[in-house]
Amino acid sequence: MTSFFKRKNNKSNRRIGAIETRKGVVRTPVFMPIATKGAVKNLTPEELKELGAELILGNTYHLWLRPGIEVIKKAGRLRPARRGASAGQGDLHGFMNWRGPILTDSGGFQVFSLGEKMANKQGGAWRNASLSATHSSPVPSRLCGTGRRPSLDAAPSAEKKLTIKSSVKITDEGVEFRDPYDGKGYFLTPEKSIEIQLTLGSDIIMVLDECPTFPCAHEKVEQAVKRTSDWAARCKKYFDKKVPHPNPPLQKGRERAGLSRPLLFCIVQGGIYKDLRERSARELIEIGFSAQGGPASGWDGYAIGGVAVGEPRKYLSKVLKYVLPLLPSDKPRYLMGLGRPEEIVAAVNAGIDMFDCVIPTREARHGRIYMQNPNFKTQISNKFQNPKSKKFYQTIQVANAKFAKDFKPIDERCACYTCKNYSRAYLNHLFRTAEPLAQRLATIHNLKFYLELMEILRK
Ligand SMILES: [Zn+2]
Repeated sequence: MTSFFKRKNNKSNRRIGAIETRKGVVRTPVFMPIATKGAVKNLTPEELKELGAELILGNTYHLWLRPGIEVIKKAGRLRPARRGASAGQGDLHGFMNWRGPILTDSGGFQVFSLGEKMANKQGGAWRNASLSATHSSPVPSRLCGTGRRPSLDAAPSAEKKLTIKSSVKITDEGVEFRDPYDGKGYFLTPEKSIEIQLTLGSDIIMVLDECPTFPCAHEKVEQAVKRTSDWAARCKKYFDKKVPHPNPPLQKGRERAGLSRPLLFCIVQGGIYKDLRERSARELIEIGFSAQGGPASGWDGYAIGGVAVGEPRKYLSKVLKYVLPLLPSDKPRYLMGLGRPEEIVAAVNAGIDMFDCVIPTREARHGRIYMQNPNFKTQISNKFQNPKSKKFYQTIQVANAKFAKDFKPIDERCACYTCKNYSRAYLNHLFRTAEPLAQRLATIHNLKFYLELMEILRK
């Protein structure tokens, strides 16, 4: 199977498709569970596969700082099932034992997030951050962002309250920052980001972009769009130099064996401004096709950044309307950091193919459980466009007292391991007594809910 994207029917912009990566085919629309630091919290790779995950997301920033790229290089590659020990330079697949495709972000968003609470000064001024976070704090209201948020999960100690001090300096050359935990200095450039992602063995690599904090004046977003285009061109050039296109093209079988190149995606920025979103998309498309990249020149996919992580969600539909008509229809489109189920459905029906979000896993850890309504399948119609309508599902807080003697499964419509074997009363007890199994069982269920939603959207 090769990559393809076709509209479901004439009445909808929803696309059904597939992305061919060197680690296998990913069916779209797809939701990526997030393995921020090389693990989807509470689950093994075998469990992820069992749940139907086809593609996961790793965070370059976190893995770069801890354990560090040198450690991952030494980890070895995945061992073939029956062919003895692994050989050669290691990668993230081998380190975390995940055989499927991995998408990595550029690392830029986490770096910029260090400065999120600082004065919004650009152009090379040092910005001082002071972020407070505790693991025991309630679920934050703005959950989306893939780890493309200043993650609460960044704390090395689960109990300790941290006051993080850091500094971020953005120039046209790259981003200079200090590790908030040990003060060590780092410099992230477009080339460095690609280099790290290649070393991680990523199958889908993202360019380094600048994602301005909302609200942001037109002038500053314009500057970020320009920098995003410049950095994308540098990423593409470096990527093409490091992984030249095979000539003649490889046979499909050899690609699957890991001999082919990873995919490279650009990221459209531009905030809430129509002219800047259009300009960003046009510039990136031009850069993709003008680079000296060989026969398959052009971007392998197009991401839309800054919607779920910066701008309020009310701008979602507008931004999609600005950008989607401009993007090549034969390439995947990835809406970064989205989202809640109703937002995912609305975005799929607008023509988006790929999603990632911390919501199902993070909310599971806090006892918030997603449940299908009786009209789950019929409500997810081709015409569903309202990102605020939640008619097809509901959530419960399973730790609430009212579930203490409720011996029904979490969701009678769900066939996951948790729902087949445990009651609401049992999960209520586990959460109230802080048993670690509580988070595991809830994570299994919430991910199943999201992955089943995508399964329905693919039909
Ligand atoms: Zn379930």
